[in-house]
Amino acid sequence: MMDDLKALYQEVIIDHSRSPRNFGSLESANCSAAGVNPLCGDELTLHCILDADEIIQDIRFVGRGCAISLASASIMTEMLRGKTKTEAEKLFDQFHARVTGTADGPLVDIGKLEVLSGVREFPTRVKCATLAWHTALAAINKTDEQVTTE
Ligand code: ZN
Repeated sequence: MMDDLKALYQEVIIDHSRSPRNFGSLESANCSAAGVNPLCGDELTLHCILDADEIIQDIRFVGRGCAISLASASIMTEMLRGKTKTEAEKLFDQFHARVTGTADGPLVDIGKLEVLSGVREFPTRVKCATLAWHTALAAINKTDEQVTTE
């Protein structure tokens, strides 16, 4: 059973890394940020449209990297569209706790992000899985610094 679940997660990751959703630039973006994970060589740039109510109207990314980093960015963009900045930050906290194995209390439902939860067994891959998130939060908080996992 656990093996079946792992195989399914693996399949979703491969699918998203081979055909990332929301991949491309966004001409009308009003916030963007770039992030790198030097340890693995992952790099991506995130563009989004944040409206006056701090709702993420659209979010896209370009970049290259390992399967985990691309799948994470792809799934993240799917999940963040339509969310408020606060909801995005809360979701990242939950996701981060899950992939680092530091979640305390009952596990919250992190939806599709669950497929990436296996990285907690591989600490160096946690950076691959969280790069897109650090970059997205930098973008929506409009910090101009480049994000790096190091
Ligand atoms: Zn990576």
